[in-house]
Amino acid sequence: MANRKPFIAGNWKMHKTCTESVETAKRLKEIGAGLTDIDIMIAPAFTSLYAVFDVLKGSNILLGAQNVFWKNEGAYTGEVSPVMLTSVGCIYAIIGHSERRSYFQESDELINQKIAAAARNGLIPVFCIGETEQERDADKTKNVLDKQLTKGLQDIALDDLKTLVVAYEPVWAIGTGKSATTEQAQDAHAFIRGKLNSILGSSMAEQIRILYGGSVKPGNIGELMKTPDIDGALVGGASLEADTFGEILKYRG
Ligand code: PEP
Repeated sequence: MANRKPFIAGNWKMHKTCTESVETAKRLKEIGAGLTDIDIMIAPAFTSLYAVFDVLKGSNILLGAQNVFWKNEGAYTGEVSPVMLTSVGCIYAIIGHSERRSYFQESDELINQKIAAAARNGLIPVFCIGETEQERDADKTKNVLDKQLTKGLQDIALDDLKTLVVAYEPVWAIGTGKSATTEQAQDAHAFIRGKLNSILGSSMAEQIRILYGGSVKPGNIGELMKTPDIDGALVGGASLEADTFGEILKYRG
């Protein structure tokens, strides 16, 4: 089995002023010091990116954006391009989060353009997929994951996807306190890896990290990380407080 380095990411969503973000980042920098056996990312709001980048310099915590536009520049009021994000120190961009899909009507086609643009510009996509509760109840989970992966990755050069990260985030588990069981999550992750195998080939499918997201907390991360296809976590609520996120980062004890 491929030796995939665990990756734990925090999505701060629309929380924290710039000052608050800097304070949390400073504490995380202390907590994360010496944690070299995992990759760590935090994704503050756009307005805090540069200040947080400044704080994280010299640490092992990397910066991510929560969204990205699909063009590099132009008359697109209010949007932020991949080039702008790399210029403030972003290494990753979360793309296709279910909140963007539901509140901002982001389609699979639009998400595909964002993944392509990010990857082309050296920004690593953290590509989110996941089914709603209704879809799971109707036994459509795998159809949904299949469609989101196929459309999201369509016509993107394999070379651009070498560093891709996929996040499986069942919508019903996000921010609800109701995490998927380890079995449900592993089952979905194994399916996703199989699908990546058919789209990108076996060596890339083995190397791509698939994160679980949905009410991850210090109490459930350890069990999730024991499964063969869960390579890390995308954490929302429990990433906002540095010491709690720190407990998740130190899941090995
Ligand atoms: C998320 O927003 O990606 C997420 C997983 O949120 P939470 O951990 O709060 O469920």
